Amino acid sequence: MGKKVLVLGEARDGQLRNVSFEAIAAGKKVAQGGEVIGVLIGVSVASLANELIQYGADRVLTVEDEKLGQYTSDGFSQAFMAVVEQEQPEGIVFGHTALGKDLSPKIAAKIGAGLISDATFVGEEDGEIVFTRPIYSGKAFEKITAKEGVVFSTVRPNNIEPLEKDTSRTGDVSEISVSITDLRTVIQDVVRKAADGVDLSEAKVIIAGGRGAKSEEGFKPLKELADVLGGAVGASRGACDADYCDYSLQIGQTGKVVTPDLYIACGISGAIQHLAGMSNSKVIVAINKDPEANIFNVADYGIVGDLFEVVPMLTEEFKKI
Ligand code: FAD
Repeated sequence: MGKKVLVLGEARDGQLRNVSFEAIAAGKKVAQGGEVIGVLIGVSVASLANELIQYGADRVLTVEDEKLGQYTSDGFSQAFMAVVEQEQPEGIVFGHTALGKDLSPKIAAKIGAGLISDATFVGEEDGEIVFTRPIYSGKAFEKITAKEGVVFSTVRPNNIEPLEKDTSRTGDVSEISVSITDLRTVIQDVVRKAADGVDLSEAKVIIAGGRGAKSEEGFKPLKELADVLGGAVGASRGACDADYCDYSLQIGQTGKVVTPDLYIACGISGAIQHLAGMSNSKVIVAINKDPEANIFNVADYGIVGDLFEVVPMLTEEFKKI
Protein backbone atom coordinates (compact mmCIF):
# COMPACT_ATOMS: atom_id res chain seq x y z
CA MET A 1 0.00 0.00 0.00
CA GLY A 2 1.26 3.47 -0.82
CA LYS A 3 2.34 6.11 1.66
CA LYS A 4 0.78 9.41 2.62
CA VAL A 5 3.39 12.08 1.86
CA LEU A 6 3.48 15.79 2.72
CA VAL A 7 5.32 18.09 0.32
CA LEU A 8 6.06 21.69 1.31
CA GLY A 9 5.43 24.21 -1.48
CA GLU A 10 7.68 27.27 -1.39
CA ALA A 11 6.59 30.61 -2.74
CA ARG A 12 8.55 33.75 -3.48
CA ASP A 13 6.98 37.04 -4.57
CA GLY A 14 3.60 35.37 -4.81
CA GLN A 15 4.78 32.58 -7.11
CA LEU A 16 5.67 28.99 -6.41
CA ARG A 17 9.34 28.20 -6.83
CA ASN A 18 10.21 25.43 -9.31
CA VAL A 19 11.68 23.34 -6.53
CA SER A 20 8.12 22.91 -5.22
CA PHE A 21 7.16 21.02 -8.38
CA GLU A 22 10.38 18.98 -8.23
CA ALA A 23 9.56 18.10 -4.61
CA ILE A 24 6.07 16.98 -5.67
CA ALA A 25 7.66 14.65 -8.27
CA ALA A 26 9.97 13.28 -5.55
CA GLY A 27 6.98 12.98 -3.20
CA LYS A 28 5.18 10.85 -5.80
CA LYS A 29 8.13 8.42 -5.80
CA VAL A 30 8.16 8.29 -1.99
CA ALA A 31 4.38 7.78 -1.94
CA GLN A 32 4.68 4.67 -4.19
CA GLY A 33 1.14 5.16 -5.44
CA GLY A 34 -0.14 6.68 -2.19
CA GLU A 35 -1.38 10.20 -1.57
CA VAL A 36 0.72 13.34 -2.06
CA ILE A 37 -0.49 16.33 -0.06
CA GLY A 38 0.90 19.78 -0.87
CA VAL A 39 1.37 22.09 2.12
CA LEU A 40 1.39 25.87 1.75
CA ILE A 41 2.28 28.13 4.68
CA GLY A 42 2.09 31.92 4.67
CA VAL A 43 -0.35 34.69 3.88
CA SER A 44 -2.77 34.43 0.90
CA VAL A 45 -1.15 31.19 -0.23
CA ALA A 46 -4.40 29.39 -1.08
CA SER A 47 -4.34 30.93 -4.56
CA LEU A 48 -1.24 28.85 -5.32
CA ALA A 49 -2.82 25.54 -4.34
CA ASN A 50 -4.23 24.66 -7.77
CA GLU A 51 -0.82 24.90 -9.38
CA LEU A 52 0.57 22.35 -6.90
CA ILE A 53 -2.33 20.06 -7.83
CA GLN A 54 -1.67 20.59 -11.54
CA TYR A 55 1.91 19.43 -10.94
CA GLY A 56 0.75 16.25 -9.20
CA ALA A 57 -0.39 16.95 -5.62
CA ASP A 58 -3.62 15.06 -4.83
CA ARG A 59 -4.85 17.74 -2.43
CA VAL A 60 -3.46 20.80 -0.66
CA LEU A 61 -3.54 21.98 2.94
CA THR A 62 -2.89 25.62 3.71
CA VAL A 63 -1.89 27.27 6.98
CA GLU A 64 -2.44 31.02 6.93
CA ASP A 65 -1.61 33.54 9.61
CA GLU A 66 -0.31 37.07 9.37
CA LYS A 67 2.64 35.96 11.55
CA LEU A 68 3.64 33.60 8.74
CA GLY A 69 4.15 36.36 6.18
CA GLN A 70 7.92 36.05 6.56
CA TYR A 71 9.70 32.76 7.21
CA THR A 72 10.78 32.06 10.78
CA SER A 73 11.67 28.56 11.90
CA ASP A 74 9.47 28.94 15.01
CA GLY A 75 6.41 30.04 13.01
CA PHE A 76 6.76 27.61 10.13
CA SER A 77 7.55 24.67 12.41
CA GLN A 78 4.38 25.31 14.44
CA ALA A 79 2.40 25.51 11.20
CA PHE A 80 3.95 22.40 9.66
CA MET A 81 3.62 20.39 12.89
CA ALA A 82 -0.10 21.16 12.93
CA VAL A 83 -0.33 19.53 9.50
CA VAL A 84 1.77 16.57 10.66
CA GLU A 85 -0.47 16.07 13.70
CA GLN A 86 -3.61 16.13 11.59
CA GLU A 87 -2.35 13.94 8.74
CA GLN A 88 0.15 11.55 10.41
CA PRO A 89 2.25 11.30 7.20
CA GLU A 90 4.57 8.42 6.35
CA GLY A 91 6.75 10.61 4.14
CA ILE A 92 7.80 14.28 3.92
CA VAL A 93 9.66 16.11 1.15
CA PHE A 94 11.04 19.67 1.19
CA GLY A 95 13.23 21.49 -1.33
CA HIS A 96 16.88 21.72 -0.25
CA THR A 97 16.66 25.50 -0.19
CA ALA A 98 17.67 27.96 2.53
CA LEU A 99 14.18 27.49 4.03
CA GLY A 100 14.19 23.72 3.62
CA LYS A 101 17.68 23.40 5.11
CA ASP A 102 16.60 25.40 8.15
CA LEU A 103 13.19 23.86 8.75
CA SER A 104 13.74 20.17 7.94
CA PRO A 105 16.08 19.25 10.85
CA LYS A 106 13.72 20.91 13.31
CA ILE A 107 10.71 18.96 12.04
CA ALA A 108 12.73 15.73 11.80
CA ALA A 109 13.83 16.11 15.43
CA LYS A 110 10.26 16.82 16.58
CA ILE A 111 8.85 13.68 14.94
CA GLY A 112 11.90 11.48 15.54
CA ALA A 113 12.54 10.86 11.84
CA GLY A 114 15.86 10.39 10.07
CA LEU A 115 16.55 13.07 7.48
CA ILE A 116 17.96 12.28 4.05
CA SER A 117 19.08 15.73 2.97
CA ASP A 118 20.16 17.11 -0.40
CA ALA A 119 18.93 14.18 -2.49
CA THR A 120 19.61 14.45 -6.21
CA PHE A 121 17.66 11.33 -7.19
CA VAL A 122 14.75 9.39 -5.76
CA GLY A 123 13.95 5.94 -7.10
CA GLU A 124 12.76 2.49 -6.16
CA GLU A 125 14.79 -0.73 -5.87
CA ASP A 126 13.20 -4.04 -4.90
CA GLY A 127 10.14 -2.19 -3.63
CA GLU A 128 12.19 0.13 -1.40
CA ILE A 129 12.61 3.87 -1.86
CA VAL A 130 16.22 4.77 -2.61
CA PHE A 131 17.74 8.25 -2.44
CA THR A 132 21.03 9.30 -4.00
CA ARG A 133 22.96 12.20 -2.47
CA PRO A 134 26.40 13.68 -3.09
CA ILE A 135 29.03 13.39 -0.35
CA TYR A 136 32.62 14.61 0.12
CA SER A 137 31.83 17.89 -1.68
CA GLY A 138 30.38 16.07 -4.67
CA LYS A 139 33.32 13.67 -5.19
CA ALA A 140 31.16 10.63 -4.45
CA PHE A 141 27.50 9.69 -4.25
CA GLU A 142 25.83 7.53 -1.63
CA LYS A 143 22.60 5.60 -1.86
CA ILE A 144 20.33 5.61 1.14
CA THR A 145 17.28 3.50 1.83
CA ALA A 146 14.82 4.58 4.49
CA LYS A 147 14.10 1.42 6.43
CA GLU A 148 11.66 2.59 9.09
CA GLY A 149 9.79 5.59 10.44
CA VAL A 150 8.73 8.62 8.45
CA VAL A 151 10.70 8.88 5.19
CA PHE A 152 11.91 12.49 5.25
CA SER A 153 14.04 14.04 2.53
CA THR A 154 15.07 17.37 1.08
CA VAL A 155 15.72 17.49 -2.67
CA ARG A 156 18.39 19.60 -4.35
CA PRO A 157 16.88 22.14 -6.79
CA ASN A 158 17.24 21.44 -10.53
CA ASN A 159 17.84 17.69 -10.21
CA ILE A 160 14.47 15.98 -10.16
CA GLU A 161 12.31 16.46 -13.23
CA PRO A 162 8.88 17.88 -12.32
CA LEU A 163 5.83 16.08 -13.67
CA GLU A 164 4.19 17.62 -16.70
CA LYS A 165 1.70 20.31 -15.71
CA ASP A 166 -1.84 19.00 -16.18
CA THR A 167 -4.34 21.86 -16.04
CA SER A 168 -7.26 19.41 -15.97
CA ARG A 169 -6.24 18.01 -12.55
CA THR A 170 -8.39 18.99 -9.61
CA GLY A 171 -8.14 18.31 -5.88
CA ASP A 172 -9.40 19.42 -2.51
CA VAL A 173 -7.91 22.57 -0.95
CA SER A 174 -8.54 23.12 2.75
CA GLU A 175 -7.15 25.26 5.52
CA ILE A 176 -5.85 24.17 8.88
CA SER A 177 -6.34 26.77 11.53
CA VAL A 178 -3.41 27.22 13.88
CA SER A 179 -2.71 29.96 16.34
CA ILE A 180 0.94 30.88 15.99
CA THR A 181 2.39 31.80 19.38
CA ASP A 182 5.68 32.40 21.15
CA LEU A 183 7.76 33.48 18.17
CA ARG A 184 11.26 34.03 19.49
CA THR A 185 12.22 36.01 16.43
CA VAL A 186 10.08 38.39 14.43
CA ILE A 187 11.21 39.75 11.07
CA GLN A 188 10.56 43.48 11.04
CA ASP A 189 11.70 44.24 7.53
CA VAL A 190 13.41 42.58 4.59
CA VAL A 191 15.79 44.70 2.55
CA ARG A 192 16.33 43.08 -0.83
CA LYS A 193 19.45 43.44 -2.90
CA ALA A 194 18.43 44.65 -6.34
CA ALA A 195 16.86 41.63 -8.02
CA ASP A 196 19.06 40.68 -10.91
CA GLY A 197 16.96 38.48 -13.15
CA VAL A 198 17.17 34.72 -12.82
CA ASP A 199 17.57 33.08 -9.40
CA LEU A 200 21.03 31.48 -9.27
CA SER A 201 19.98 28.29 -7.50
CA GLU A 202 17.25 27.58 -10.06
CA ALA A 203 18.99 28.92 -13.20
CA LYS A 204 19.26 26.56 -16.17
CA VAL A 205 22.28 28.48 -17.49
CA ILE A 206 25.02 30.04 -15.32
CA ILE A 207 27.90 32.16 -16.54
CA ALA A 208 30.38 32.26 -13.67
CA GLY A 209 33.36 34.56 -13.37
CA GLY A 210 36.53 34.19 -11.35
CA ARG A 211 39.56 36.25 -10.50
CA GLY A 212 40.39 36.10 -14.21
CA ALA A 213 37.57 38.64 -14.78
CA LYS A 214 39.94 41.11 -13.10
CA SER A 215 37.38 43.70 -11.92
CA GLU A 216 33.71 44.48 -11.41
CA GLU A 217 33.78 45.94 -14.93
CA GLY A 218 35.16 42.59 -16.14
CA PHE A 219 31.87 40.91 -15.15
CA LYS A 220 29.92 43.01 -17.69
CA PRO A 221 30.63 40.72 -20.69
CA LEU A 222 29.56 37.76 -18.54
CA LYS A 223 26.27 39.50 -17.71
CA GLU A 224 25.70 40.20 -21.42
CA LEU A 225 26.21 36.51 -22.27
CA ALA A 226 23.93 35.49 -19.38
CA ASP A 227 21.21 37.83 -20.65
CA VAL A 228 21.40 36.45 -24.18
CA LEU A 229 21.11 32.88 -22.85
CA GLY A 230 18.42 33.71 -20.27
CA GLY A 231 20.80 32.70 -17.51
CA ALA A 232 22.26 34.02 -14.28
CA VAL A 233 25.73 35.26 -13.34
CA GLY A 234 27.68 33.40 -10.66
CA ALA A 235 31.17 33.77 -9.23
CA SER A 236 34.06 32.06 -7.54
CA ARG A 237 35.04 33.06 -4.03
CA GLY A 238 38.21 34.50 -5.53
CA ALA A 239 36.08 37.02 -7.45
CA CYS A 240 33.91 37.78 -4.40
CA ASP A 241 36.93 38.21 -2.11
CA ALA A 242 38.42 40.60 -4.65
CA ASP A 243 35.16 42.62 -4.51
CA TYR A 244 34.34 42.12 -8.18
CA CYS A 245 30.84 41.02 -7.18
CA ASP A 246 28.56 40.31 -4.27
CA TYR A 247 28.94 37.21 -2.06
CA SER A 248 25.36 36.26 -2.92
CA LEU A 249 26.79 35.11 -6.28
CA GLN A 250 29.41 32.81 -4.75
CA ILE A 251 29.26 29.19 -5.88
CA GLY A 252 31.06 26.44 -4.04
CA GLN A 253 31.55 24.69 -0.76
CA THR A 254 30.86 27.84 1.24
CA GLY A 255 28.56 29.36 -1.37
CA LYS A 256 25.61 28.10 -3.37
CA VAL A 257 25.40 24.60 -4.82
CA VAL A 258 24.06 24.73 -8.36
CA THR A 259 23.13 22.16 -11.00
CA PRO A 260 22.28 24.08 -14.18
CA ASP A 261 21.99 22.50 -17.62
CA LEU A 262 24.92 24.67 -18.75
CA TYR A 263 27.71 26.15 -16.60
CA ILE A 264 30.27 28.38 -18.30
CA ALA A 265 33.27 29.02 -16.02
CA CYS A 266 35.23 32.09 -17.12
CA GLY A 267 38.64 32.78 -15.59
CA ILE A 268 38.10 30.27 -12.76
CA SER A 269 40.99 27.96 -11.85
CA GLY A 270 38.80 25.11 -10.57
CA ALA A 271 39.79 24.87 -6.89
CA ILE A 272 38.19 21.91 -5.15
CA GLN A 273 36.02 24.24 -3.05
CA HIS A 274 34.60 25.78 -6.22
CA LEU A 275 34.02 22.39 -7.86
CA ALA A 276 32.00 21.35 -4.79
CA GLY A 277 29.32 23.80 -5.85
CA MET A 278 29.09 23.18 -9.59
CA SER A 279 30.66 19.89 -10.69
CA ASN A 280 27.24 18.22 -11.00
CA SER A 281 26.16 20.71 -13.68
CA LYS A 282 24.92 18.86 -16.76
CA VAL A 283 27.31 20.49 -19.27
CA ILE A 284 30.40 22.42 -18.14
CA VAL A 285 32.31 24.76 -20.43
CA ALA A 286 35.58 26.27 -19.18
CA ILE A 287 37.29 29.34 -20.59
CA ASN A 288 40.78 29.87 -19.19
CA LYS A 289 44.11 31.24 -20.43
CA ASP A 290 45.99 28.46 -18.65
CA PRO A 291 45.72 25.09 -20.45
CA GLU A 292 46.77 23.37 -17.19
CA ALA A 293 43.95 24.90 -15.13
CA ASN A 294 42.16 22.30 -13.01
CA ILE A 295 38.74 23.43 -14.24
CA PHE A 296 39.48 21.64 -17.54
CA ASN A 297 39.50 18.33 -15.62
CA VAL A 298 35.76 18.63 -14.96
CA ALA A 299 34.80 20.48 -18.15
CA ASP A 300 32.93 18.82 -21.01
CA TYR A 301 34.23 21.54 -23.35
CA GLY A 302 37.32 23.64 -22.81
CA ILE A 303 38.39 26.85 -24.53
CA VAL A 304 41.97 27.92 -23.89
CA GLY A 305 41.94 31.66 -24.38
CA ASP A 306 41.33 35.12 -22.99
CA LEU A 307 37.81 35.42 -21.64
CA PHE A 308 37.64 39.06 -22.78
CA GLU A 309 37.95 37.80 -26.37
CA VAL A 310 36.04 34.53 -26.11
CA VAL A 311 32.97 35.66 -24.11
CA PRO A 312 31.98 38.55 -26.45
CA MET A 313 32.43 36.20 -29.43
CA LEU A 314 30.08 33.66 -27.84
CA THR A 315 27.56 36.42 -27.08
CA GLU A 316 27.57 37.56 -30.70
CA GLU A 317 27.15 33.98 -31.97
CA PHE A 318 24.29 33.19 -29.56
CA LYS A 319 22.54 36.42 -30.58
CA LYS A 320 22.30 35.02 -34.11
CA ILE A 321 20.38 31.91 -32.96
P1 FAD B 1 42.24 31.89 -9.18
O1 FAD B 1 42.53 30.59 -8.52
O2 FAD B 1 43.18 33.01 -8.97
O3 FAD B 1 42.07 31.60 -10.73
C1 FAD B 1 41.92 32.57 -11.70
C2 FAD B 1 41.97 31.87 -13.04
O4 FAD B 1 41.72 32.80 -14.05
C3 FAD B 1 43.32 31.25 -13.35
O5 FAD B 1 43.14 29.87 -13.67
C4 FAD B 1 43.82 32.02 -14.57
O6 FAD B 1 44.53 31.20 -15.50
C5 FAD B 1 42.52 32.50 -15.17
N1 FAD B 1 42.63 33.74 -15.95
C6 FAD B 1 43.26 34.91 -15.64
N2 FAD B 1 43.04 35.85 -16.56
C7 FAD B 1 42.25 35.27 -17.50
C8 FAD B 1 41.70 35.75 -18.73
N3 FAD B 1 41.85 37.01 -19.15
N4 FAD B 1 40.95 34.87 -19.46
C9 FAD B 1 40.75 33.60 -19.05
N5 FAD B 1 41.27 33.11 -17.90
C10 FAD B 1 42.00 33.94 -17.13
N6 FAD B 1 36.15 29.12 -3.70
C11 FAD B 1 34.98 29.15 -4.37
O7 FAD B 1 34.95 29.47 -5.57
N7 FAD B 1 33.82 28.85 -3.73
C12 FAD B 1 33.76 28.46 -2.44
O8 FAD B 1 32.68 28.23 -1.90
C13 FAD B 1 34.98 28.42 -1.71
N8 FAD B 1 35.01 28.03 -0.42
C14 FAD B 1 36.22 27.93 0.23
C15 FAD B 1 36.25 27.44 1.54
C16 FAD B 1 37.46 27.30 2.18
C17 FAD B 1 37.46 26.75 3.58
C18 FAD B 1 38.65 27.65 1.53
C19 FAD B 1 39.96 27.48 2.22
C20 FAD B 1 38.63 28.14 0.26
C21 FAD B 1 37.42 28.29 -0.42
N9 FAD B 1 37.36 28.77 -1.73
C22 FAD B 1 36.17 28.78 -2.38
C23 FAD B 1 38.54 29.39 -2.38
C24 FAD B 1 39.23 28.46 -3.35
O9 FAD B 1 40.16 27.67 -2.68
C25 FAD B 1 39.95 29.31 -4.42
O10 FAD B 1 40.86 30.19 -3.79
C26 FAD B 1 39.04 30.13 -5.32
O11 FAD B 1 38.01 29.31 -5.85
C27 FAD B 1 39.85 30.73 -6.46
O12 FAD B 1 39.04 31.56 -7.23
P2 FAD B 1 39.37 31.77 -8.80
O13 FAD B 1 39.38 30.45 -9.49
O14 FAD B 1 38.46 32.80 -9.28
O15 FAD B 1 40.83 32.43 -8.73
